[in-house]
Parts: sequence; C-alpha cells; structure tokens
Amino acid sequence: MERWIDRWAQVDAQIAEACASVGRPREAVRVIAVSKYHSIAAIEEAYAAGHRDFGESRLQEALPKIAALPQDICWHYIGPLQSNKAKRIAESFQVVHSLENERQLREIAKQSSQVEAFLQVNLSQDPKKSGIFAEGVDAALAEAAECSQVRVVGLMGIAPQLASLEESRSWFQSLFRLAQEKGFSRVSMGMSSDFVAAIQEGATDVRIGSALFGDRPALQ
Ligand SMILES: *Cc1c(COP(=O)(O)O)cnc(C)c1O
Repeated sequence: MERWIDRWAQVDAQIAEACASVGRPREAVRVIAVSKYHSIAAIEEAYAAGHRDFGESRLQEALPKIAALPQDICWHYIGPLQSNKAKRIAESFQVVHSLENERQLREIAKQSSQVEAFLQVNLSQDPKKSGIFAEGVDAALAEAAECSQVRVVGLMGIAPQLASLEESRSWFQSLFRLAQEKGFSRVSMGMSSDFVAAIQEGATDVRIGSALFGDRPALQ
C-alpha cells in the first residue's frame, strides 16, 4: 500500500518544481491536506510525518477528528458554510475558506475567538456554485470589516470542473488578479488535478486531497 510519505514526497517535489519554474520560494505555498472522508488513522500518519494543515468539508465529520487529534493541528474548513452551523465551524476551525455572505458573518459574530477567512468567489458566475460574484467582493469585505471575529486574509475559488488545463490556468490568473486588486496577498486555489498550474499563477494555499491520501473511500 502506498504510504503518506511517498505521496507527500511526490506532491512536494511537484510543488517545489512549480515554484522554481516561476521564481517563487517553496515556503510561499501552504499545503492543506484535504482529509475529508479519510480516517483518523490516515490523518495520524500524515501528522507523524510532520504535516499540520488539514482540510475538512463537513462539520459533523470533522468534530470527532478534531477532538481525537493533537491540538497543534491547523484545521481548515473548505465546505459549504451553512449559516446555521457557521458559529460552530468558526469555533472549531482556525481557517474558513468558504465565507460568502452576511448571514454567515452574523452567526460567526456570536462566538468569541477570531477566525481567519477567505472570501469564496464564484468567478464563473455559475448560479449552481458557491461564492460571491466578483462585483460583490467589495460589499462583502465591508461587511466583514464590521465583524471583529473574522479576519479576511484572501480570496478562495474552485476552478470549474471539466475545464481544460488552459482554461483552469486563465481562471487562476483571473482570481489572482482580483485578489491583487483587492489588496490581498493570499489566494486559496488549486486541487489535486491542477495545483501545479495554480501555483504557477500565484496560489498561496493549495487544497490537495486525493493526491496525498489516495482515492476517497465511499461515505459510511
Ligand atoms: C475535496 C475538495 C478538495 C480536494 O480535492 P482533490 O481533488 O481530492 O484534491 C479541494 N477543495 C475543496 C473545496 C474540496 O471540496
């Protein structure tokens, strides 16, 4: 069976190469290992090898993992942020990648600690997808500025599925440009299939699941 350290070595080498190809330092890219559907044992294996950033997309699935695993893990919430769970999510995770509306902010404001957040942007303006349209970013930032429990650090996006690598690349360029326009230095973009292009186009946070943990098992 393939082990974490082997998959990690492979992904890490690709990241280093992607960074080198565009003159970015390797340390400029944080890897969020997306552990959704994977077991606590799988996360422990990654933790033992030194990894500390993990991403989950459902609160109910994440809570027992967070409770069972060491405190120095940085947990990233990458799933849809239902407002009725936003408070609990902000209490349990250090970083939320999927902030998109005022209702979520109002819920997060009900807890006391501060959470880092990425605004999720829907660049393709696909109504079936999460995220705010580019023209709504300023208003969302103004709302977030009123909420002391949230510190917006950058923009996040999910490239359209079935896009060719070239289409994904120009999509990454647009998100990076929008983040720069808004004064952000962090951009959360790129997954197992396209993280090399995302890094070449400026991603600072890549969310990598299957390339690090293997195929996701079916949900029980
Ligand atoms: C599942 C998921 C990922 C990781 O996907 P892989 O293709 O397994 O790397 C990244 N981002 C989000 C928002 C996800 O839901």
